Amino acid sequence: MKIRLARHMGLCFGVKDAIQLAEERAHHGPTTILGPLAHNQTIQQRLTKRGVAFVERHQDANTRDLIITAHGISNHTRQSVQDAGFNIRDATCPLVHFAHRTLHSLVQDGFYPVIIGKRDHIEVRGLTGDLRTFSIVEEASDIDEIPHVPRIGIVSQTTQPIERVRAWVQQIEDRFPDSKVCFKDTVCQPTKQRQSAALDLGRSCDVVIVIGGKNSNNTHQLTETVSRHCERVHQIERVADLDPDWFFSTDEVGVTAGTSTPGEVVRPILERLTEWARSSREPALLIESSATGARTPLSPLF
Ligand code: SF4
Repeated sequence: MKIRLARHMGLCFGVKDAIQLAEERAHHGPTTILGPLAHNQTIQQRLTKRGVAFVERHQDANTRDLIITAHGISNHTRQSVQDAGFNIRDATCPLVHFAHRTLHSLVQDGFYPVIIGKRDHIEVRGLTGDLRTFSIVEEASDIDEIPHVPRIGIVSQTTQPIERVRAWVQQIEDRFPDSKVCFKDTVCQPTKQRQSAALDLGRSCDVVIVIGGKNSNNTHQLTETVSRHCERVHQIERVADLDPDWFFSTDEVGVTAGTSTPGEVVRPILERLTEWARSSREPALLIESSATGARTPLSPLF
């Protein structure tokens, strides 16, 4: 059994920077994070142990410091937080800021805003928080609810799979042939890279393990993408979720992880898989890049 790692996987720079900021602030004194910093229990537990509090509403925070997560917030919420006297420590990812700016400039140019993404996700709530009217497309059927207007401006949540976003934009254009439809691509580069690397795994591996939190949107999207080409895909949160029966009669196992999954979660899973691969009597290999075909022994990594 061989192990193939996705070319791009795991924590993105936006989540890494947000974790680093939270750890720094915790070092200086009590701090609170507004909403989930990353959709991953390990990260949340680690920060909680360091004295960081998490609240859903700023009204429930008991510290002067309040950290805005990588997912961002609306200007309206930001103003309320400032008015309440908090010191805002902003970890909003620059690529989420870009999505906000893009959406607002579409609205300023007279386009009716349409956001492709998860209705209840914190990032989408932030994107829509300053808008009076808008439509959210979470399922293809939501396209039927978009009103007939002359100008439609579309952005997407940063972690949506770009192929599906493009397909839905096409459906919107088909439904409104007389409207001017303007699509601005706000899916972030780390998401695109992880999606395309996951697709490669799905096409070439017998079994694929996707590592990430149950409530992590981008991890679910990776699982969905892999499952289009590979029937034996398993999304897991921790090493204890691995089941040896999944690897019966398996030549190659692919491994990927969502943008909110830290290395400390991935490492023990790779170690366990390596143990099993070694016991299969074939040398375990790490294939870092399916594009170059480069193969590196797995052991030096640990
Ligand atoms: S997933 Fe993309 S937009 Fe979100 S924090 Fe990471 S890099 Fe930024």
